Amino acid sequence: MSALDSLTPGKCPGCGAINNIDPKESTYICECCGKLRAVNLFKEAYQEQEDRKAARRNELIPPGGVVDTVSRKHIFETDIRPDVESALRDYTFGLTSACTNQLLIAPYTLKTQAKVKHNSNQLHSFESELELYEELAVADSAKDLIKKSKGTSTAYAYVLTCLDLLSDRESVNNRYSFLPTNYSKAAEALGDDKKPLKARLNALHEASIGLEDMISGNFKPAAEKLKSASKRLEDARAMAKNDIDSSAMVTAINQEIGTCSSCITVCDSLGDSLDDEEEALALQLFGKLMRELDRESIANTDRKEILEEFSKLVKTRLNGERLVKVASGKGDYMVPMWAVDVKYTFQGGSLFKKKAVEVTETVLVSACFMTSSMEYPLSFVTDIFGAAPKATLSTKFKGVDSLSAGSRISEICSSATAGGLTGVLVVPLCTKHVAEELCNEYLKGCKSNADKLRMAKCEAREVIYIPCNKQGYDFVPTIDMGGVPPRSLGNPDLVPSMNL
Ligand SMILES: [Zn+2]
Repeated sequence: MSALDSLTPGKCPGCGAINNIDPKESTYICECCGKLRAVNLFKEAYQEQEDRKAARRNELIPPGGVVDTVSRKHIFETDIRPDVESALRDYTFGLTSACTNQLLIAPYTLKTQAKVKHNSNQLHSFESELELYEELAVADSAKDLIKKSKGTSTAYAYVLTCLDLLSDRESVNNRYSFLPTNYSKAAEALGDDKKPLKARLNALHEASIGLEDMISGNFKPAAEKLKSASKRLEDARAMAKNDIDSSAMVTAINQEIGTCSSCITVCDSLGDSLDDEEEALALQLFGKLMRELDRESIANTDRKEILEEFSKLVKTRLNGERLVKVASGKGDYMVPMWAVDVKYTFQGGSLFKKKAVEVTETVLVSACFMTSSMEYPLSFVTDIFGAAPKATLSTKFKGVDSLSAGSRISEICSSATAGGLTGVLVVPLCTKHVAEELCNEYLKGCKSNADKLRMAKCEAREVIYIPCNKQGYDFVPTIDMGGVPPRSLGNPDLVPSMNL
């Protein structure tokens, strides 16, 4: 007897897919959802499904009942068709709406739990029910209905399993081993009426194999697969745009193309001209970065932007390109801070000659602030407005030309240059938009100048790397920050470790 003969069907108690299990083993990993469970649970779930099917069969065809063609037709039209048609409508709608979710997120988990109406387990159960109805489908129209319902529910079930894999933080390490099969099974199940979705799922199959390569450090084959998948996604998008039932998934396809392109950027920069040791170093940091990006506190960050910055760091440190701006000074670590320009007007001039003054100043925002607890978000900026000199009798007469103590910060930014690295580079975790948000929060909190700053506009310009050292438990800039250094740059344990 071969090993295959000893396998029996089992139903995954989680996702509901049928697996061939070895009843002699005690545990089994579902080949669809990747979860490890007791073999007994697979057996029990399968038995339950078979019992339910048998009970339904007895309802439709009482033991010893008539099973000639005419009665079968009658049973189908009265007892089966209405239920199946209504389920098909419901599942078609569910599948369409599930497919408006981004189905390729790399290499992170979904930001928020995807909104879906059904679960894969109930869909797989419906599939098994359809097998029973198939026996009673005599007319062509009945056979068509069963075929279409089976395709839709099967494809929908596998799409939902993919969404579960993408939202599940526990499966983050091995999900790319399970995604490809689910995508191709979903594509295979679809009929010709859902061509754009079929094309998209086939492209995602290839893309997820590429991502698996990338995570394992095989950058060249990864980049090739991702490039090809990206092209196929573009084709799927063109098809979806011209199809009224599929146009709702265009946004999601765009996001998937974006995911491919940022991963291609990373693969290209990691794969080129790095020796094994450097590649290992970069990959190690990449893995760490992935885990950090999965943290709840930064789950809303735009990952693409961060990956692009990461690639710049790799090219700068390992290929010697000059792609980042560094403030002059020496430090063991170069810590990224966003230079955010703040534009505002205020009533300046002397007591007797008031005039509206328009000023642009720069606030530096730590690009690693989210590694810390967010209780005091304002600790992560250079507080140039809080430290502004109070108006004195003499400034009232002579007039002031700004509300801030930020001249040194502006100087640091304008004199920063590409090159001149004296230490390792720390990866920024915060995007342009997030830096602007934090700066706006900061401005709101500047009570003493509140009225005057109310109209301020923030624009994050670029990332400047500030030389820093570890001093005891603290992690601080080594250069003169004009009396307004940020109170914190982020978690002093974590920030220095995210370096290249
Ligand atoms: Zn499963």
